Amino acid sequence: MPRDPRFDVLFEPVRIGPVTAPNRFYQVPHCTGMGYRRPRSVAALREVKAEGGWGAVCTEYTSIHPSSDDEPFPSASLWDDEDVEWHRLMVEKVHAHGALAGVELWHGGAASANLYSREAPLGPWSIPAGVHDPIQTRAMTSVDIGALKRWHVEAARRAQRAGFDIVYVYAAHWYLIRQFLLPSNRRTDDYGGSLENRARLLKELIIETKAAVGDTCAVAVRFSASIGGPDDDQDTAEPREMLALLADLPDLWDITVHDYTYEMGTSRFVPEAALEKTMSWVKSVTDKPVVSVGRFTTPETMLRLVRQGVVDLIGAARPSIADPFLPQKIAEGRDDEIRECIGCNICYTGDQTGTPIRCTQNPTIGEEWRKGWHPERIPAKVSDARILIVGAGPAGLEAAMSLGKRGYDVTLAEARRDLGGRVALESTLPGLGQWVRVRDWRLNQIAKLPNVAIYRESVVDEAQILDWGADRVVLATGARWRRDGIGRWHTTPIPGWETASVMTPDDLLAGTLPEGPIVVYDDDHYYLGGVVAEALRRAGLQVTLATPANEVSTWTTRTEEQHRIQERVLRLGIDLMTGTSLAIIRDGSVVLESIYTGRQTEVQAASVVMVTSRQPQDALYQALVGRIAIDRIGDCLAPGTIATAVYSGHRYAREVDADAPVGVVPFLRE
Ligand code: ADP
Ligand code: SF4
Repeated sequence: MPRDPRFDVLFEPVRIGPVTAPNRFYQVPHCTGMGYRRPRSVAALREVKAEGGWGAVCTEYTSIHPSSDDEPFPSASLWDDEDVEWHRLMVEKVHAHGALAGVELWHGGAASANLYSREAPLGPWSIPAGVHDPIQTRAMTSVDIGALKRWHVEAARRAQRAGFDIVYVYAAHWYLIRQFLLPSNRRTDDYGGSLENRARLLKELIIETKAAVGDTCAVAVRFSASIGGPDDDQDTAEPREMLALLADLPDLWDITVHDYTYEMGTSRFVPEAALEKTMSWVKSVTDKPVVSVGRFTTPETMLRLVRQGVVDLIGAARPSIADPFLPQKIAEGRDDEIRECIGCNICYTGDQTGTPIRCTQNPTIGEEWRKGWHPERIPAKVSDARILIVGAGPAGLEAAMSLGKRGYDVTLAEARRDLGGRVALESTLPGLGQWVRVRDWRLNQIAKLPNVAIYRESVVDEAQILDWGADRVVLATGARWRRDGIGRWHTTPIPGWETASVMTPDDLLAGTLPEGPIVVYDDDHYYLGGVVAEALRRAGLQVTLATPANEVSTWTTRTEEQHRIQERVLRLGIDLMTGTSLAIIRDGSVVLESIYTGRQTEVQAASVVMVTSRQPQDALYQALVGRIAIDRIGDCLAPGTIATAVYSGHRYAREVDADAPVGVVPFLRE
């Protein structure tokens, strides 16, 4: 289908200083959890973005000098000529598809504890460094400031030698340049105090970087349009004055906001295009092109922002991760095929755990080099095997779609009328509505595949599987939450767990509303305990949320939403008891116990909701393994995140009928 001519404007070239972006689709710098440790993987990942139509593709944050390493979070580096060679790998691949390559030069200052280099962290003054690390910065002298400027210029020259087209001066987030910009910088020399003084370092860095590489490279500045405040009412007065001071110095403004958890907020808390209100003034202050982000997945929103003069370039990190081919799909009038980001931030957990990026919607991200996976291409089938998949949750749907694209004859049987498994159910919980995109995109794709047949309301049992006579059977039957409380804290059932008042999230999602007061016991630590408590409280019930962890939904620190969840739980009036285990369940009450002191408290509870661990639904597998060609995928194999289930289904589809057994290490290593 030809593209809607309304969207032509998105495909106009944009001049950025000495270079020209071929269109308005701009992949802003984003971390990959790979950095300098895995340069081949990074290069292949960025290449796919360029191939998919992004007109500019940037690196992750790239340290300019060993006085700033971010270990254990994996940044890139441009410390010496060896780094130049690694970056050249990426640049050449990006250029091969006609896109510009950008590098985000970075110095963390007080944000880095330098756990790897062991250099004393730098700061405008001596303040605590890193993330609760027991170390402070050394206050920078004028000699240090001179050195910093020299390092920045030297790194910019290396970037130019690597072939980059866009070089950043990174003045946003809690990194060194921003530490100078903020009003908290009370240095008494020319680099602190007044607004002009605080902006001096940035100004000099822009000027010196342009002088060094501006003949061939555009100089971009990443800048925060606010200095704090609540989400929808951020303080923009001072950033506006500062930006006006520097207005036309850089070639491009890459605009973000003060609060990182808002800038890249999950869909549970932050909508699409959320930064618009805070940054829409920027273009009235500068004549230079402006890029900004907003988890944009709909071309209409992109078009509106360009038309209204809010941005010149559509910035994206997550939408480009979920669908590296988003621009090409719009270009070809295939917008209905965009694999829309669901705003879960699983992609960010790679950086936070120091491991390669993963994505709920796009199982191929991070696997481009080490497994040779491509988001849009999958090899044709190598046999005429007829494959039966049982269960249409994220794992079953992904396997059915991917096997179908390979050309296999696929039957997908699902017990329920609704497809989507846990995604269909969990997306009814507060704030999780966009998660249903995991199901909808796959169903949309499957609808185009005549070789995939779906049977709803079909509970498959052992006899039926044998009768069916499929060449291969795949169980994607999921997992059920345990009722007995076994999880991380309890390795044996909690006394009293058989009581009728004990429920699981599966019961709630099936439509049972428990009686209050309720104790939600969360020994799972991801989102579900917190969101179930929220749903019950919103239904008007009195809720206590008890968890052995020291904060609610503690794993969500990795998705940058923990403090928002904790705030919501507290504001809703949920009684939060951290460091607390569930010791005994009685009729009408429970005994909670401090995990530190063992002190017990009895609280009233008409119902208890156990969110502890899950039991794979693998009885069919146990009955049939060894008798027929049968495999388990997704939660039926190993309960995990939705991303894990999608990946599992995708992997099955790629590896079924593989000629040679996959080696001991099933991927290439760097
Ligand atoms: P995953 O996350 O691994 O995809 P889900 O729990 O989301 O797992 O989905 C599992 C799906 O399998 C559910 O929709 C469930 O109704 C379905 N299912 C479970 N057992 C059977 C069965 N015996 N026959 C058909 N469908 C089943
Ligand atoms: Fe979007 Fe989630 Fe994928 Fe990140 S992991 S790109 S938030 S769908």
